[in-house]
Amino acid sequence: MSESRNAGDVDLVVTADLMVPMTSEAVIHNAAVAIRDGEIVYAGEAAACSELKAERVIETRDSVLLPGLVNAHTHVADHIYGTLVDEADISESLYEVIFPLAATLDDELQYAAARLGLWDALRSGVSTVCDLNMYADATARAAAELGARAIVAEKVVEYRMDTPPSFDRSSRTFTMKWDRTEAERLLQLGIDLVDRWHGHPLISPAIGPLAPDHLSTEMLLECANAAEAHGVKLLPHIAQTTAEGVEIRRRGYDGSIRYLDAIGFLSPAVHAAHMVFVDDDEIAIAAERGISMSFNPISMLACRCFPPIGKLMAAGLRIGFGTDCFSMDMLADMRPAIYAANFFGVNGAGTLKAYDVLRMATIGGAEAIGLGDRIGTIEPGKRADLVLLDLRDPQLLPITNVIEAVVYYGSGRDVTHTIVEGNVVYERGGLTLANEDEIFAAGREAAAEWLRRNRPRLDASALAARIDKRVYGRS
Ligand SMILES: [Zn+2]
Repeated sequence: MSESRNAGDVDLVVTADLMVPMTSEAVIHNAAVAIRDGEIVYAGEAAACSELKAERVIETRDSVLLPGLVNAHTHVADHIYGTLVDEADISESLYEVIFPLAATLDDELQYAAARLGLWDALRSGVSTVCDLNMYADATARAAAELGARAIVAEKVVEYRMDTPPSFDRSSRTFTMKWDRTEAERLLQLGIDLVDRWHGHPLISPAIGPLAPDHLSTEMLLECANAAEAHGVKLLPHIAQTTAEGVEIRRRGYDGSIRYLDAIGFLSPAVHAAHMVFVDDDEIAIAAERGISMSFNPISMLACRCFPPIGKLMAAGLRIGFGTDCFSMDMLADMRPAIYAANFFGVNGAGTLKAYDVLRMATIGGAEAIGLGDRIGTIEPGKRADLVLLDLRDPQLLPITNVIEAVVYYGSGRDVTHTIVEGNVVYERGGLTLANEDEIFAAGREAAAEWLRRNRPRLDASALAARIDKRVYGRS
């Protein structure tokens, strides 16, 4: 940044044996990336930039350099639920655990929980999250503090958290105490968030209507109008559960995409999570309207369902890869994603390959969340979001194809460095901008406090038998 600096000087050079820039399937050997002011100024063979003077050089052996992973659908603070959501169909846990217990959350608890989730993200090579939650400002602050890139949106629903939808397992339907005033309040919080974080180098605010069945037609359109007025994305869940289908049918439509199209909600600003219960005509409508989506394989398996991912890809949707409310280790999710997709979801449109998934997890996700011109590939002009993996892992040998090795056998444990906006924010086991011990202690205290607040409700629920209070309540 100093004006006297030579044109050739850079802040950081990173070298690696192998680099997959994700501009194609090409792999560069003996590679280097040079970074100045957070921007990639060179990416290619190391020999060609050996003359560059760099303030810092990270020289690695037996390594592969990839674009930082883009997690296209997250709720980083949902770590606080622990495994309470896991031993059931998640589409039931949503109504029986997440919605009723959310009323006791607050900004402070969400901040502590978001830091846990973002720590998990950075150590797993995830440089960008796309997050929808309550108290989204806490997530934005946590991301800025740890140095992660984040799209954040305040969750907008049309009921009060202390009177959440009640779910009937036998009919798989819910009843809702609609509250327009609360939805308007939450949308205003979302708009305030957009105003507050607009122009931040790491944080891109968005508008977060939770799902078409949790908002009236009028409020869905209010959200879409707000996103359009501010030039930001919309991050709804769409076509996630059968209960959603029931509510949409009650409104007179067969399918959420058909309904959202009819009311004029769909546009390229919409980045939808899930897209499971969509028929062929709806897939064509979604593609026509230019919406993007996140493919969240593990959370959909937890919901006992799976999207028709092959058809969605064939239709040309921009598709990212998301971990939803689970572990942020995208690499670990890739192998089961491919196996499950090829078992349930391809529907005759070809076979999902390692490169397809890695593309979704990098440039595909970046394009889907509207950051494709800034991140997602390693090439000059892009912001410097990178992940370095150590290939000295017994599971990775022998490497006959580095993309396949990373996708089928890689995991967060292989990540040595995560770089965001040219800053090394995770390095060989530790965060560089924040203290893990403090984050862990605060996270554990927040979990204990949250348990205390929910004790009467949990003790009266079917979940009580599964909670070891001596462990979970410890602070
Ligand atoms: Zn979600």
